[in-house]
Amino acid sequence: MDTNLIPAEGLSAGAFPLILTLDMHGVPHRWISWQHACYYYAKDQVAWGQGERAFTVHGGMNRMTGERSEISASSIIAIKGKAMAMKSFSQVPPLNNRELFHRDRQICAYCGGMFPIPRLTRDHIIPFSRGGKDMWMNVVTACRMCNEKKSDRTPETARMELIYLPYVPNRAEYLILTNRRILVDQMEFLAQHVPAQSRLHQKAAQ
Ligand SMILES: [Zn+2]
Repeated sequence: MDTNLIPAEGLSAGAFPLILTLDMHGVPHRWISWQHACYYYAKDQVAWGQGERAFTVHGGMNRMTGERSEISASSIIAIKGKAMAMKSFSQVPPLNNRELFHRDRQICAYCGGMFPIPRLTRDHIIPFSRGGKDMWMNVVTACRMCNEKKSDRTPETARMELIYLPYVPNRAEYLILTNRRILVDQMEFLAQHVPAQSRLHQKAAQ
């Protein structure tokens, strides 16, 4: 494959959306860059593409034919091979503040206020000191004030009731949480794989 790939229409690389990959079962797997997508296309590892076309890249001229190489990639592509089989889908996604705050829609679980990210904290419902673990089911988003007020106590002893419950995002939801520039067709596809009780659906319904 040519190394001098240039995005079509003079767009900079940063202007391209990420491409959503699926495994051979059609299960969402991960986000990749357009360069990575080109690699899969060039290696003939794309089983099928769905969704609207995301971009076209032009390579160099073929000296034999005088034709310019070109790859058109779909916004959602399934990658051949068993390497990507289901295992990643069943794994619990890593816990990060960014995704936690998005899971909870930046709403404090105690006062119900909505806050900018710098004013949010990760609250352990059952504190570390009482055997609480650092996992999705034991953490909620809390504003700094509520977190300090609750301190090293459980919600019961602090008399601070949770206004929503924690949950573990599945793979599709996690993919939504980690990409701020999702295309409409990618979002529609991922939303079908998000459990009905997810707060993402509440967001969409509002
Ligand atoms: Zn609060």
